[in-house]
Amino acid sequence: MRLTLWTYEAPPHVGAMRIATAMEGVHYVLHAPQGDTYADLLFTMIERQSKRPPVTYTTFQARDLGGDTAVLFKTAVAEAYERFQPQAIMVGASCTAELIQDDPGGLARALNLPIPVVALELPSYQKKENWGAAETFYRLVRALADPACARHTGGRPRCNVLGPAALGFRHRDDITEITDLLDRIGVDVGVVAPLGASPADMARLGEADFNIVLYPEIASTAARWLERTFHQPTVATVPIGVGATRDFIAEVARVAGIEVPAELAASASRLPWYSHSVDSTYLTGKRVFIFGDATHAIAAARIAKDELGFTVVGLGTYGREFAREVREAAALYGIEALITDDYLEVEALVSELQPDLVLGTQMERHIAKRLGIPCAVISAPVHVQDFPARHSPQMGFEGANVIFDTWVHPLMMGLEEHLLTMFRDDFEFSAEAAPSHLGHAAAASPATLQPATPQSAPESDTSDWAPDAERELRKVPFFVRGKARRNTERFARDRGIALITVETLYHAKAHFSS
Ligand code: SF4
Repeated sequence: MRLTLWTYEAPPHVGAMRIATAMEGVHYVLHAPQGDTYADLLFTMIERQSKRPPVTYTTFQARDLGGDTAVLFKTAVAEAYERFQPQAIMVGASCTAELIQDDPGGLARALNLPIPVVALELPSYQKKENWGAAETFYRLVRALADPACARHTGGRPRCNVLGPAALGFRHRDDITEITDLLDRIGVDVGVVAPLGASPADMARLGEADFNIVLYPEIASTAARWLERTFHQPTVATVPIGVGATRDFIAEVARVAGIEVPAELAASASRLPWYSHSVDSTYLTGKRVFIFGDATHAIAAARIAKDELGFTVVGLGTYGREFAREVREAAALYGIEALITDDYLEVEALVSELQPDLVLGTQMERHIAKRLGIPCAVISAPVHVQDFPARHSPQMGFEGANVIFDTWVHPLMMGLEEHLLTMFRDDFEFSAEAAPSHLGHAAAASPATLQPATPQSAPESDTSDWAPDAERELRKVPFFVRGKARRNTERFARDRGIALITVETLYHAKAHFSS
């Protein structure tokens, strides 16, 4: 048992739902207790899809457990087939149904339906949502890709684009961006899957010359199988950021055996100039903490360091399947990766590091809000506002533009940051106020400017502050005050100083700046 308040990922059958909902002509029959239909809301409310997910739940109740739940399941499959007439059907169990062991795959096959039946074995007590999505996609690809499908001939090189799914962070707009980019490189897109693909499309996967994996969490297992079965190479560079997009273009051109068109060789993003322009000078060296799924966290770290001049002080993921990749990336920045799905561990590290900016998921947004640190969202899990109406990719050159604006927005603008250090007592632009471009609603209350609670920051609170030292501390601009307080307290504690004076404050400052 583990006491859990927030989870970064849902159970694996939600990952399977993300694949079914992304596709056309596929139906999923899920053996699940009454109440599991809550997952529909992820798609209809958070992602704001205008149709129900193609999922039939058996919704068994306590009284059904005394009867034959297997019959209940078979009836649900037969009725779903009759009603929805899918081209393929997926069957599986949710966590509770896994315990009653009704064997959805065997039961569905016994019905002899005239369409492919894909049985999913998703161990709900060991694995999570992304693994469930990857396993489901892999099973579907195996079941539906036609082994006799011939490679296309003539014309431009052709690729499949794999990974975009329902409930994916910006997947909708990334696909638009990347298919357009591929067209400009001179490559045709055969099948995009699972998003928008039907079983008939999946049968054509073997026609393509190579596969592009945009979201490794979802598509790398399937891509490995396609590599073995159809001898299709995989482009694995994820084009998030200007540098990564250029690498992506080069890799696609190499695998496709073509020259990169001259106009694409030059960057088409505004990010490089924006981050080189003098207004961005004050961004240099800002300390950033990054957490999310592995793909987005690794990409964000590269952009932060190489394209915005930030210092990466923390990097981590909740996706244990990709821990190795994140550890390798963290080593590039001389830090140790944080691999955890416990948000309290994330909060403790953010609290200890006191970064200038947090880039993370919806959870980190809450953590950063509590600690009074600016934050931007870079990865799922996300809330409804991160399925925006406007075009907002993360990938490609336009994605880099979106990223520049999104990450810089929460920070205090340069002039205001500078003025605050000189005129702290202004009634409106005081050191206690939040960045004025964020409006009053974003004003940080004094409570949020305090160091973290003892629970999340066990080391913080041991020394007393003399009144003049507290006054001196308040001269430090609010966005670094928490860090100054914590460093001073640590300095005092290490030296057995019970009362922090102005002198201690400056000794600590000298100590940590040296
Ligand atoms: S079966 Fe799984 S998803 Fe459904 S309520 Fe129980 S724990 Fe949640």
